[in-house]
Amino acid sequence: LPDPGPTTPHPRTARVNTLKMSVEQALQWLRQPPPEHRRKWEAVGQLAAVDPLLPDLLAFPPGTDLHDHPLVASGALVLQSKASCMPAHALAPQSGWTVVDACAAPGNKTTHLAALMSNRGSIVAFEKDARRVERLRGNAALTGATCIEARHADFLAIEPEAPEFAGVRAALLDPSCSGSGTAFTRMDYLLPSSADRLKGGQDGRVAGGVHARENESVVADVLEEAFALGFRLADPFPAWHRRGVAGLVEGAQHLVRVDPDEDGTDGFFVALFVRDGEGGGGSG
Ligand code: SAM
Repeated sequence: LPDPGPTTPHPRTARVNTLKMSVEQALQWLRQPPPEHRRKWEAVGQLAAVDPLLPDLLAFPPGTDLHDHPLVASGALVLQSKASCMPAHALAPQSGWTVVDACAAPGNKTTHLAALMSNRGSIVAFEKDARRVERLRGNAALTGATCIEARHADFLAIEPEAPEFAGVRAALLDPSCSGSGTAFTRMDYLLPSSADRLKGGQDGRVAGGVHARENESVVADVLEEAFALGFRLADPFPAWHRRGVAGLVEGAQHLVRVDPDEDGTDGFFVALFVRDGEGGGGSG
């Protein structure tokens, strides 16, 4: 059966690409557009509000059409759901870090990571699909995310001990998740492999975001190996109300769930693995 969609429509959201504009500048533009854009865009701009959890996210009423908005065209705003903006904040990469994005295209989260890092450091972004890697490169160019190095490659085939990965501080894993079985299979493999890929780093963070029923089970499957490598589950968004389902995995309270019918954005799941005294990210 086709997915009937959420019971209540979600607010439309747009992430301010802080590589191009501050949130204050974006709000100023939206509320008082330049004269040539005023007639078409001024009314919409009055409805923008900063999301209470994510400081770089603007919310508009459901159905607001921003596709041909000048700030979207220029890459200053990225049309992105709130749930899709949570993993980069959870990972909270710092300027100067080397970060891996294992499943990167079309690059919404990669460009978000670049913005959070102020384009300082580097993001090695893997994408195995040739056409999608071009979209990733296009979006990196549009958003001015120059610290992204997009690679057309299978992340699972990389050589984890290669010197270029020795300094990796964090990895974001956002595998395809159209069916829960697929996501389960992929995450089952990706998470332990990815944890292993960070072995050489001083400390490391791994965040995963997937839509799948078996989210907690996936984490449960890799937990022992992650612990053995020195990782623990950290607490992204401590104020967030919906956590992992208790009883399915040890430490379910550390996991973040997003319910598409209750939370006003896409269904999502975030697990943040942290090593060596790292406090974990999250802005809520
Ligand atoms: N993170 C992206 C974003 O926020 O825009 C969305 C990623 S999408 C859910 C998953 C992507 O991972 C797909 O483009 C898929 O081709 C890619 N992918 C899946 N397995 C991969 C692998 N082993 N190596 C590299 N890319 C992979």
